[in-house]
Amino acid sequence: MKTYRIAVVRGDGIGPEVIASALEILDEVRRVGAGFGVELIEAPAGAGTYLECGEALPASTLAACRAADAILLGACGLPDVRYPDGTEIIPQVTLRIELDLYAGIRPAKRLEGVAGALAGDPAIDLVVVRESTEGIFASLGGGIVLGDQLATDTQVITRRGTERVVHSAFRRARRRGRAQPRVTCVDKANILRSFAFFRKVFDEVAAQYPDVAADHLYVDAAAMELVRRPERFDVLVTENLLGDILSDLTAGLIGGLGVAPSADLGERHAVFQPCHGTAPDLAGMGVANPLAAILSVVMMLDHLADTHHDPAPAAAARRIELAVTAALASGEARTADLKGLATTRGATTAILRAIG
Ligand code: ATP
Repeated sequence: MKTYRIAVVRGDGIGPEVIASALEILDEVRRVGAGFGVELIEAPAGAGTYLECGEALPASTLAACRAADAILLGACGLPDVRYPDGTEIIPQVTLRIELDLYAGIRPAKRLEGVAGALAGDPAIDLVVVRESTEGIFASLGGGIVLGDQLATDTQVITRRGTERVVHSAFRRARRRGRAQPRVTCVDKANILRSFAFFRKVFDEVAAQYPDVAADHLYVDAAAMELVRRPERFDVLVTENLLGDILSDLTAGLIGGLGVAPSADLGERHAVFQPCHGTAPDLAGMGVANPLAAILSVVMMLDHLADTHHDPAPAAAARRIELAVTAALASGEARTADLKGLATTRGATTAILRAIG
């Protein structure tokens, strides 16, 4: 039986609340016979940690994350806690850079019992793969403001950065096992050279996956199609900022940030976290939706199963998914953001019961 080392970054705001809930679920699914072990390593980071020890991402936390098989993260940062220069505390972004987590995986799957934003609730089951280390964000802190009259940031698209994220998208499309898997490249190749290059590299990689259909959309058309015909999509791959925007859009389509999990994957490390932030307006009230964090644990288990060729975590993941579906169908896991009455505790208990 394998034992996996999980670094746990609880973070700030509702982060610790939803992570506590997700860990209870992980514990329960193992208790009922999952066939794998888990060693949790507390890895403090975020605004609270900064206030306590003057560092948002202590070296010991980074080391624990490097040594772990996977990292489970709540959410970090608080509006009132900032560095002396006024910038926000975002250790999750530092972690992405330090661990070279280049593929942001943002699935959007409609859950039974959760009303999406679209009339008729189409069967949405897609994944946005967001390049997470370059694009326009590569300019972070490096843009210029000239004479209070002009400002620039520079978009960076490299062959290596594009090839690896596009490969990741095609491998994912294959694994999802649709009758006809498809990867859609989203860009603005008609306007910017950097995007035309992204598309060219995409086409070169696509040729290596003849079993997977490949197509392109300009980002404006993609935004419209995602609203008009979301069921047409399988996997989308795109630049950093475009992926940031489109993945919030797709989260909105399936019921909002409270049900949107995510993964940030590199060659050697992987972070799993809800798409939402610290939601300071809800912190401490016990009403945050824990589903995004719980579904992030599902993604983590699937990743461990894949990378360690171990069917046990994948079986546990399916068990959690079934329990979530059951608890949503009965209405017991529907928190206020899903137009229900459940508290974080109530939703967690309902899922725990369904696992049992
Ligand atoms: P960040 O900049 O850190 O990503 P944000 O400004 O996008 O954060 P979030 O913290 O993600 O904001 O949350 C935006 C709003 O969505 C919150 O104020 C809250 O009302 C709602 N929200 C977010 N997460 C949840 C959740 N898990 N359960 C219920 N509501 C949530």
